[in-house]
Amino acid sequence: MELSKQNKIKNFFKRYGVMIIAGVFVVAIALTVGLTLPASQQVSTTSLDFTAPMLNAEITKDFSDTDLQYNENLNRWEIHLGIDFAGENNAVFSVLDGTVLSVTNNSLEGYVVEIEHADGFTSVYSSLGENVLVKEGDTVEGGQQIGEASNTATSEFTDSQLHFCLLKDGVEVDPNLYIDLQNK
Ligand SMILES: [Zn+2]
Repeated sequence: MELSKQNKIKNFFKRYGVMIIAGVFVVAIALTVGLTLPASQQVSTTSLDFTAPMLNAEITKDFSDTDLQYNENLNRWEIHLGIDFAGENNAVFSVLDGTVLSVTNNSLEGYVVEIEHADGFTSVYSSLGENVLVKEGDTVEGGQQIGEASNTATSEFTDSQLHFCLLKDGVEVDPNLYIDLQNK
């Protein structure tokens, strides 16, 4: 490289170096703010197309993470980190495409199906009857029937109902924020 060219480059950086560094900083800060802000505001918005877990069903107990609700079966007041449904028809459907994480059974919650979805969502269906239609590892589509609501969750029900939970990144969230349950 010619000496004069080298000098020109040196002079260029002497003159504009600080501005270039400052510019890189501004872009870096803008990117950081731009990427973190929308992420924290995305809590209640998603492009995922949820469907209701039961059709023509009535909400018998809504979600509440602060107000206590009375549980007749356990004779105590408690928060309710899910939504209970009772329908004319007991069919229960996956609310989104996903993969079955587990199918379990215990005396308090009955048969429980857990399904993993995109974007960190997991849906949990409790109080299902023993005629569960899916098994661990199955791929399911939104709207696909996975079982039937029953009275197996003795901690809550004496008649056939579904206790439905929706988790985002492992934390129970209000399903009403994501699923149009008024127009089911
Ligand atoms: Zn419940």
